[in-house]
Amino acid sequence: MNSIQENINKIKQNIPNYVTIIAVSKFQPIEKIQSAYDAGHRDFGENYVQEMVDKYQVLPKDIHWHFIGHLQTNKVKYIVPFVHLIHSVDSLKLLKEINKQAEKNQRVVSCLLQIHIAEEETKFGLSSQEALDILSSEELKSFQFIKIKGLMGMATNTDNTEQIKKEFLSLKSIFDQFKNTLHLPNVQFEILSMGMSNDYPIAIECGSNAIRIGTLIFGERPTKN
Ligand SMILES: *Cc1c(COP(=O)(O)O)cnc(C)c1O
Repeated sequence: MNSIQENINKIKQNIPNYVTIIAVSKFQPIEKIQSAYDAGHRDFGENYVQEMVDKYQVLPKDIHWHFIGHLQTNKVKYIVPFVHLIHSVDSLKLLKEINKQAEKNQRVVSCLLQIHIAEEETKFGLSSQEALDILSSEELKSFQFIKIKGLMGMATNTDNTEQIKKEFLSLKSIFDQFKNTLHLPNVQFEILSMGMSNDYPIAIECGSNAIRIGTLIFGERPTKN
């Protein structure tokens, strides 16, 4: 058993089996992803379009590629042909472009809306009101080539577990509210993507069913060059 496999198994042992582990492989070399793949792992997360496309081209085609970084409208076309789930949608304009490119590719692309729950101002994402405005817009109803499957969020990077918990619980409550009140053909709330290496146990306790784990699986990230 390789060490990456051991790391994944260690995480799996302590979480419910309905939780998807997305192995965040940004800046990590192909060999490490291949090694997780050989151990049976299929879900990988990337933050940068060019990097994800390059890796997609050389790695096995049954990998589920999750896009978790900030996505620019002009780059949507590069990932739509193969992406499994876009976690980081933060505008109606972006959804419109995803829908357009998805139609060209004749596939339905699954998306999450990214909600800003952290205190830090640098993190991307929508307020719950902005997300609601998108979900209740007339235009959204015409997007037949997207499916909005839930929400994603990142907690503040802090040691204060009470604060992290408060932020995750706020996202869970927005998720439940939308899930219970929105009934649209292209909105089907199933996925709540929250939790990273340093806070995933709290996230799961607060209702997460998709965790995005980089460092704990692959070790420290090489710096971007
Ligand atoms: C990099 C990244 C992760 C993984 O972070 P780790 O702390 O290495 O687990 C998760 N989610 C997002 C959005 C990221 O950018």
